[in-house]
Amino acid sequence: MGKIAINIATGSLQQQEMIVGIDLGTTNSLVAIIHPEDRKPVVLKEHDGNALVPSIVYFDRSGSITVGDEAKNYLVTEPQNTIFSVKRLMGKSYNDVKERSSFFTYKVIDDNTESLVKIQVGDKFYSPVELSSYILTELKKRAEHILKTPVTRAVITVPAYFNDAQRQATRDAGKLAGLDVLRIVNEPTAASLAYGLGMRTDETKTVAVYDLGGGTFDISILRISNGIFEVLSTNGDTYLGGDDFDHAIVKHWMDQKKIREEELMIHKDLAQELRLTAEQAKKHLSNNSNYEGAVAGDKVSLSKKEFEGLIQSLVDKTIQRCKNALADANISIKEIDEVVMVGGSTRVPLVKESVSKFFNRKVHDELNPDEVVALGAAVQADILAGNNKDFLLLDITPLSLGIETMGGLMDVLVPRNSKIPSKAGRQYTTQKDGQSGMRISVYQGERDLVKDNRRLAEFNLSGIPAMPAGLAKVEVAFLINADGILNVRAKELRSGVEQSIEVKPQYGLTDAEVEKMLMDSIRHANEDIKIRALVEAKTEAQLLIDTTRKFLDKNAGLLLPAEIEATTKAIDELRTSLDSDNKDMINQKTETLNEISRPYAERLMDMAISKAMSGKSIRDSI
Ligand code: AMP
Repeated sequence: MGKIAINIATGSLQQQEMIVGIDLGTTNSLVAIIHPEDRKPVVLKEHDGNALVPSIVYFDRSGSITVGDEAKNYLVTEPQNTIFSVKRLMGKSYNDVKERSSFFTYKVIDDNTESLVKIQVGDKFYSPVELSSYILTELKKRAEHILKTPVTRAVITVPAYFNDAQRQATRDAGKLAGLDVLRIVNEPTAASLAYGLGMRTDETKTVAVYDLGGGTFDISILRISNGIFEVLSTNGDTYLGGDDFDHAIVKHWMDQKKIREEELMIHKDLAQELRLTAEQAKKHLSNNSNYEGAVAGDKVSLSKKEFEGLIQSLVDKTIQRCKNALADANISIKEIDEVVMVGGSTRVPLVKESVSKFFNRKVHDELNPDEVVALGAAVQADILAGNNKDFLLLDITPLSLGIETMGGLMDVLVPRNSKIPSKAGRQYTTQKDGQSGMRISVYQGERDLVKDNRRLAEFNLSGIPAMPAGLAKVEVAFLINADGILNVRAKELRSGVEQSIEVKPQYGLTDAEVEKMLMDSIRHANEDIKIRALVEAKTEAQLLIDTTRKFLDKNAGLLLPAEIEATTKAIDELRTSLDSDNKDMINQKTETLNEISRPYAERLMDMAISKAMSGKSIRDSI
């Protein structure tokens, strides 16, 4: 672990290694450290005093990448090449986000499958992991520039409700950016740490963290006891925030000035000016009782009272979510010991007053609400660096544990640095019709392909009853006990057949080997992620070829000859592309095959449903 030394001769700091805390936000991201002299957390600022880096990635025609403030300028002029809110897509499939597809002004590929979303810019496909890695690379570069030292280790925060896949995606993004992600920390946990809550091991506290940003609202109820943070409940609204306050002001002014929606559709610059002025008015009213300004040379004004009238229902909505969170955690308002305010929109006095009134106590708002999560991440980083001796570090797994999946990929079930004891589980299914066995190979390490990791054990789950591909449900459970012994169990849930094995992952592993495995994973992150993306694209393509073929065989009679011909051609082209190792081409051909088959697949589905309505079963007709 890195230490910071003060050179007594020069008085300057020599930083052998600095572990940074990163708040990778939906709208903005920032980096913080513990100041080596006064030991207080501080955010890293450029000379212009700006700490926030907009989480926006812009691709110019030649494919070169710009991140942050500069990229923000292209949001209006080149929306299809400017990616914002990528955090909303982390670890998500298209099905997860399709209801909100109009929110994204860039192309989110709708291949209508369960696989992870891809974003298309020009003729290239990017995963949310890659896009997030560009933001992290920029943050790393900035931090190195400000600190004048290499930055290779980080703690990154994520929302408390992020699932395993989303957390893993965030880890991968860090790795791709050349960062060893020591820990993924929940944002409300980080915010509490920034206020020093939970730093004393003998205290038990229940904390409500109210986080209202630009586009999202989260309320989390945490219980801190013996230095362990437990999330009791989370609630919120992924599409509610300060942007809605701005929008309410814009609507108010439009009503006053009799501007119609259609006008704004045509005059994009007027729409933009209205929005920016509304945001300015909102911020002004956080400290003043009246705002006066102009839009397109025409005077506009807003009083604090009027503004509060406009946003009252939105604020009420957040309070209702707080009530739900308390109910889910099964605790009463009286049991909340502390309330922490996070996010720029908590600067609005009505928000602060309403939250304070609801919880019946003074809220923590002493720290900058935009910075508090990053500051807490820095506190956590410092604890992991071993600089904070008062804090006990629990036993952790030094390397990730997982199993081999399609194409030789490593699927991590227990990420490294997880607390021990620990448990995790995931469901898998069969690839072939009538498949009766499944090989479970357990690996340890950080690389994306299992061949580069350490194999711990292998066994066969046999006796799976014959059923069509994809129907079997094989649950693989990892259990690490307090002695560090790993028990892996595989169980087919429909039939109940099961098999298990026990291993000691740390057996025969030296610290130097662990270090080498970690460094290798960072050194090879780029090629690893590329191979993973290629293997995933190939697996998805193969699956689509198989299912489309099956579909054609069964339903040939119901399709037009032209449809069959176009589909067969698209299948052939996709199959040929599989030999190319060109991920973008495979994705493109997968897209094409999906587009060709979607209309008739839907048509046949409709037919099947109407037949089912008239008394026949769906399975008979398709
Ligand atoms: P965040 O996502 O946490 O960075 O929050 C950004 C949101 O906070 C945006 O909607 C901003 O308009 C809003 N915000 C920033 N400063 C203020 C302020 N002084 N008063 C009201 N809202 C603010």
